[in-house]
Amino acid sequence: MPVLVVIETSKGKLSKAAIEAASYGAQIAANSGAQATLLSIGEASNDELAKAGSVGISKVLKCDASAVHHFDPQAYAKVAQAAVESTGAKTIIFVHDRSGKAVAPRLSAKLQAGLVSGAVALPEMSNGFVVSKNVFSGKAFAQYKINTDVKIISLLPNSVPPVQKEGSASIEAFNSSLEGYSSPFTTENKVREETGEIPLPGAELVISAGRGLKGPENWGMVEDLAKTVGAATACSRPVSDIGWRPHHEHVGQTGIAIRPNLYIAIGISGAIQHLAGVNGSKVIVVINKDPEAPFFKAADYGVVGDAFEVIPKLNEAFRKFKSQNA
Ligand SMILES: Cc1cc2nc3c(=O)[nH]c(=O)nc-3n(C[C@H](O)[C@H](O)[C@H](O)COP(=O)(O)OP(=O)(O)OC[C@H]3O[C@@H](n4cnc5c(N)ncnc54)[C@H](O)[C@@H]3O)c2cc1C
Repeated sequence: MPVLVVIETSKGKLSKAAIEAASYGAQIAANSGAQATLLSIGEASNDELAKAGSVGISKVLKCDASAVHHFDPQAYAKVAQAAVESTGAKTIIFVHDRSGKAVAPRLSAKLQAGLVSGAVALPEMSNGFVVSKNVFSGKAFAQYKINTDVKIISLLPNSVPPVQKEGSASIEAFNSSLEGYSSPFTTENKVREETGEIPLPGAELVISAGRGLKGPENWGMVEDLAKTVGAATACSRPVSDIGWRPHHEHVGQTGIAIRPNLYIAIGISGAIQHLAGVNGSKVIVVINKDPEAPFFKAADYGVVGDAFEVIPKLNEAFRKFKSQNA
């Protein structure tokens, strides 16, 4: 069955999460001897898009019309629908990020297609089409069987590693479906750039801190530690609510869900709403001065201690390790 992978290019780049979704779609297509096509929405060079060939994508449809220069989920859904019609795709893959969360349900309604949001594994196709996702704030997995002819999945970043393939992808302009399109709203130029050098959603290493840090003036040591190990920074919800840290760093039930290889939580109690966004992490390290903090129950490693003493020592140890292993 032909597969369409729909991704948004950010700053002209194919993100790590987009490559994962492309590879995921290519693996599903390969299962039935079909082709996987990538629909790229946004501005990106052909050289950048051709990289999709290295994970099994045979063709890229490139939509870079002015209507998609700002995020407009209705325009994105319109292009995606046209791409489904053009490719005859029966399975459509999105990244489970801000864009995928807004566009996949719209496309699902347009196509009357079953949708599973936030899948964490390849579908099981031996008996129907069964997709796994986390439920109950990450405490359990559920398997959903999609019974409709057209199936839509959004893939949680860092869930299924990409598989490298030999091959190249052809690139085709795909703007015609937006000719004459007039957006029902205007986007004012209020885009706020994310801070931090490493984007949080797909980061493999994350250093996160909570109210235990006492105030925004103390985040320098968290950022230093993150810089030493090449990690993204994150925070608990109250920290972003009070304005100590930007909202895009807030992880949890009402923030973003992440699945890094390593999550270091400093001065965070481990409330269920926080865990909901981070308990898919492969290894969790908790630093907290209270030995009874609930987060220790979810931790692989724990340090009972004062963050203001532990963080500088940890940073020093990482630096020493790096210099010895450079
Ligand atoms: C509907 C709903 C949705 C929510 N969604 C989210 C969400 O998405 N994400 C989220 O994070 N929260 C969310 N919350 C809030 C959540 O319930 C907790 O209140 C919040 O996670 C607590 O943040 P915290 O751990 O930073 O602060 P606190 O609970 O105040 O914990 C601070 C921790 O720091 C430790 N500490 C203090 N000083 C030090 C020190 N010097 N060194 C080391 N440790 C120290 C303390 O022992 C304590 O464990 C939600 C709540 C509700 C009701």
